[in-house]
Amino acid sequence: MNPEHLELTIGWLYPTLMSTYGDRGNVICLQQRAQWRGIRVNVLPLDQQTSAEQFHQVDVFMGGGAQDRQQEIVMRDLRGAKADTLREKLETGTPGVFTCGSPQLLGHYYEPALGQRIEGLGLLDFVSKHPGPNARRCIGNVVFELTASPLAQDLEQMLGRKPIVIGFENHGGRTYLGDVSPLGKVVKGYGNNGEDGMEGAFYRNAIATYSHGPLLPKNPFIADWLIQTGLKQKYQTPITLTPLDDTLAKQARAAMLKRLSLTNLA
Ligand code: GLN
Repeated sequence: MNPEHLELTIGWLYPTLMSTYGDRGNVICLQQRAQWRGIRVNVLPLDQQTSAEQFHQVDVFMGGGAQDRQQEIVMRDLRGAKADTLREKLETGTPGVFTCGSPQLLGHYYEPALGQRIEGLGLLDFVSKHPGPNARRCIGNVVFELTASPLAQDLEQMLGRKPIVIGFENHGGRTYLGDVSPLGKVVKGYGNNGEDGMEGAFYRNAIATYSHGPLLPKNPFIADWLIQTGLKQKYQTPITLTPLDDTLAKQARAAMLKRLSLTNLA
């Protein structure tokens, strides 16, 4: 299909309430990489002003991190028709990246540092708990090998090697997976809880991760997979994207891996 005839709608969940630690960067990266290919892009903010109907227009969801208090406001707004539409979209394969505070809301519940448990959508089988205001936060660069199937195989084919993801995490909450695939295996950093070596989760085409806004700029292959998958779902035909010059992203990755003494993964 001629890319000029393609249109991609990015549904950005609660941009003002959930965009901590650079998560806007993921939206910009996705938008730009689609536009560089001549694809028309709409960025649709999904917030208190949005109707549940508008969630149907989304081809790729982006959800960022949030403070505990904002997560509670978001969850109150999402409950009901919006949550049902989001659940239906994700169940039927609409892709998305949900970072830190937003996946906590896709699980069964999130117990914040203070106050009441926030009930989640229960779409992904995991729970998240904050050990309390005095507990150490999980902050720093994180590197993980992406292992979730079939995403890992798709990316390995795209890259010609195992997908290594470089990110940055900052969370108090700890996530414990039930019957859902982890997104990957931690090489450096905390990941879901700093105990079991797992990072994130993957369900249908939804990526849940503790890795913030540099995720897509530092790992542009994930952005391309999201664009391809979103368009394939929409137009019901496989889409091949023209390659881009990712020299800068590669240099940034090499510099980060060197800094973390992981040059063997470069
Ligand atoms: N408030 C949540 C926590 O501390 C999420 C934080 C975030 O999104 N960075 O775990």
